[in-house]
Amino acid sequence: MTDYYVDLETTAEIVKKILPKMGEFKVPITPQNYRVWFEYYSGTNKELLEEINSIIEARRKFTPELNRYLYTKYFGDDHNKEMLREVQAKTINVLKNFLEQVLATTNTTSDYGNKLEKYSEQLSKAEDLSEIQEILENMIRETSHMVESTRDLHSKLQEASNQVEMLREELAKTAEEAKRDALTGLHNRKAFDEEIAKLYKRYKDKGEIFSLIFVDIDHFKRFNDQFGHKVGDKVLQVVANSLNYTLKGKDFVGRYGGEEFVVLLPLTELDNACLVAEQIRENISIKRLRVTKTGENLGTITVSAGVSQINESDTIESLVERADKALYLAKNSGRNNVKSEKDL
Ligand code: GH3
Ligand code: MG
Ligand code: MG
Repeated sequence: MTDYYVDLETTAEIVKKILPKMGEFKVPITPQNYRVWFEYYSGTNKELLEEINSIIEARRKFTPELNRYLYTKYFGDDHNKEMLREVQAKTINVLKNFLEQVLATTNTTSDYGNKLEKYSEQLSKAEDLSEIQEILENMIRETSHMVESTRDLHSKLQEASNQVEMLREELAKTAEEAKRDALTGLHNRKAFDEEIAKLYKRYKDKGEIFSLIFVDIDHFKRFNDQFGHKVGDKVLQVVANSLNYTLKGKDFVGRYGGEEFVVLLPLTELDNACLVAEQIRENISIKRLRVTKTGENLGTITVSAGVSQINESDTIESLVERADKALYLAKNSGRNNVKSEKDL
């Protein structure tokens, strides 16, 4: 803005006079007109002062054309230059910020970055508004190209990451499924091997004991022979559900193979493990099995169980072997009962 070489007091006086005078001559109070009349009253521009005085003397009307003429004559050029400088400074600032951000984010846009830097240079040399306008239009065009291509890239990346996420979930599901028995939904042999290895390590590292129960269905072969393999499968599911029910998900329950199940009880001593085994045996033996469709009575089903507890001289194999021997003893002792390593 032009400097007015007048002090504050004078300025206040001028301001007080301008508005009534502008009103008197019916000059609309626009910033441009105000500037003309401020200049007139401050008296800093002799030529302007004389021209307006002569207009007033001649009693000419301050028409919109005359007002515009006065402003353009005394300030127009000046004004344009100021505007130009302002727009230039602002644009260059915006551009610099923008450039910094773009260049910091990615180097795939370096071609775009180069173009922007070229525009920035052109801008600092621009002489008039139309030149700036042109540079800005070029910039905007380049920018929207860039935005389009990054948007493309972005959505491709998003899509790829969605696929990776789906794949990850699928893999997790597959890994989980690989440890489940398809017929009963219980953990399978592979999961058991992993779990017992984990417990064994914990026992060796921290001394946390654990117990093992083998559960085997009594005379299951006869059952199959009498009612068919499909009914046999159903019975395996019933036993699996009963095991889950009895242990309520806190311990490890798996299908060891065929009609043999396995339970791992962390932090459980032999006596308590035997109680759990007894509970399992009882819960299965009290079930009355019936074919839903035909109502045919299948009678009862019983299991035998063998229990062992980890000890200092144990390997995983020796622990398994003792539970297996206890189970064999339970079978030979008439089935439908529980034996532990103590009974061997
Ligand atoms: P024990 O009381 O001595 O355990 O006699 P058992 O008949 O239960 O034992 P055995 O090992 O002689 O027979 C097991 C039977 O279990 C043989 C097999 O047909 C049956 N079996 C194993 N897996 C499955 C299965 O997935 N489905 C069905 N329906 N039967 C199975
Ligand atoms: Mg059996
Ligand atoms: Mg068996």
